[in-house]
Amino acid sequence: MYKTENHIAPAALKTKGYAALRPKAALAPFSFERREPREHDVLIDIKYCGICHSDIHQVRDEWGEGTFPMVPGHEITGVVVAVGEKARKFKVGDKVGVGCFVDSCRNCSQCEDGLEQYCDKTVFTYNSHEHDGTPTYGGYSDKIVVDEDYVLRIPNNLPLDAAAPLLCAGITLYSPLIHWQAGPGKKVAIIGLGGLGHMGVKLGHALGAEITVLSQSLKKKDDGIRLGADYYYATTDPETFVKLKGGFDLILNTVSAEIDWNQYLDLLKLDGSMVLLGIPEKQVPMGATPLISRRRSLSGSMIGGIRETQEMLEFCGKHSVTSDIELVSIQRVNEAYERVLKSDVRYRFVIDLATLKG
Ligand code: NAP
Ligand code: ZN
Ligand code: ZN
Repeated sequence: MYKTENHIAPAALKTKGYAALRPKAALAPFSFERREPREHDVLIDIKYCGICHSDIHQVRDEWGEGTFPMVPGHEITGVVVAVGEKARKFKVGDKVGVGCFVDSCRNCSQCEDGLEQYCDKTVFTYNSHEHDGTPTYGGYSDKIVVDEDYVLRIPNNLPLDAAAPLLCAGITLYSPLIHWQAGPGKKVAIIGLGGLGHMGVKLGHALGAEITVLSQSLKKKDDGIRLGADYYYATTDPETFVKLKGGFDLILNTVSAEIDWNQYLDLLKLDGSMVLLGIPEKQVPMGATPLISRRRSLSGSMIGGIRETQEMLEFCGKHSVTSDIELVSIQRVNEAYERVLKSDVRYRFVIDLATLKG
């Protein structure tokens, strides 16, 4: 049993959403069932869900082994409408978020350190399976049931629509910025001004680092500067690589496609690090020389743990950082995908789930 506003449990958790029925299929209306809230669960009425490029990679099965039908979406914000009997962290009416995962083993050293995203048994929000084998379905839907330990609190001053992308794009940039100690005196480059990249500019700027955007063209330069970048260069101009050689402490690569990592490594100082965040479909060839010649490092980073995600949300609340969004109806999701693929997004599409309920 669980409590709702009227202390009456809903009869069933019939759920409406949008799914790809098979790899590469267009998203279409799809009905399914969510579990009834267990003792420690919360039931969330989903208000908004961001469109992450990872949704597109997975719907197209570019990373392989996708589970279909697939209901994507892991930048979820909404309001709690019911809580399990033993759930203590949230109450009906709370503004909450759900990011890229909804469970993990809870016992391994990563889980104990609050790095659940690196657990071997992370249950991702969609395209994954619960520990009992039930497939998970994401946020392009009207409701979700999640264990309270994997639910985030959204600061009251942040609007639920523009806050949604913080749950993936925000934490994916915040975590490496903190881990590699971006702050005053540090020169940070961000490759790609898309959903992830624009959050990196805002967060890196709020942390006090000097931010340079490396974009394919100068088309978005004014936006980049408005978002907080100090410098902005086009990577299609070979002069960029000459001018910026050996200049950065940290490079965050958010590009979703294959680019020549060797060329970018040369832009790092001695002991500088390039962190891969984008996940291209194909392998990228690497040479040893760009690393060896200046003791540079090439690393990767994946989203962030629950504790750090909550910390990031508080940071965003304090600094009034949210995403620049374009709100779309669920009926326009396939069109939005095409625009993301053309880098034609300023800077994150967010689905208004009221359009699914109407
Ligand atoms: P996005 O909004 O499409 O942004 C990617 C940006 O990369 C584009 O705006 C574009 O920036 C640049 N780009 C795209 N194609 C390019 C090409 N062929 N050559 C050079 N630059 C190119 O995507 P996103 O949602 O930010 O996601 C980016 C990547 O991160 C995806 O692969 C996604 O799966 C991955 N991701 C990883 C994590 C993680 O935990 N590591 C989390 C979320 C997403 P310009 O127009 O400025 O050039
Ligand atoms: Zn994502
Ligand atoms: Zn674990």
